[in-house]
Amino acid sequence: MEVNNKQFIPTEKLLGEGYESQKGNNLTDSVLNKVLPNALTAKSDELFALARKSSLWTLSFGLACCAIEMISTHASHHDVDRFGIVTWPSPRQADVMIVAGTVVKKMADPIKLLYEQMPDPKWVIAMGSCATNGGPYYKSYSVVMGVDHLIPVDVYVPGCPPRPEALMYGILQLQEKIKLDGQSRTTK
Ligand code: SF4
Repeated sequence: MEVNNKQFIPTEKLLGEGYESQKGNNLTDSVLNKVLPNALTAKSDELFALARKSSLWTLSFGLACCAIEMISTHASHHDVDRFGIVTWPSPRQADVMIVAGTVVKKMADPIKLLYEQMPDPKWVIAMGSCATNGGPYYKSYSVVMGVDHLIPVDVYVPGCPPRPEALMYGILQLQEKIKLDGQSRTTK
């Protein structure tokens, strides 16, 4: 049987042949190019702050009933992944500690240790009235009157327990704080 190899030989084309300007997939047609200039300038502190606020990893640990709401916030129904927030089971790579629940005195040292194991920069959210000021256990013999007696707190989320929407709002406030901190460093 005779095989006609001619059909497998590509026809030679000159570079640029067939190209017509202003036609087809042209970069100048892109919407982004219309609304944005070709170059953006920003201070490195602002850029780092934007990157940090958009990829917060929260340390996975809970202390009491508030932790159930925190777990729910991370689950599919509320889905904080869309804000770049993922929960992480190790303090070594986590950026944010959400203190969700009653801080009993027995847990004071482990909480401080976990906080110290987190790399800088790091942030803390006190979730619920127990973590904020002792809540229903105010002046109890076994409870710390707010986690800010142990570690610095950036955002307080009120409620007993706060709903997932309240925690989400607290996280968004923290993102805003990180962004503003980055901007204020550049203006000094
Ligand atoms: S604030 Fe209320 S819901 Fe949260 S840990 Fe304390 S008692 Fe439980």
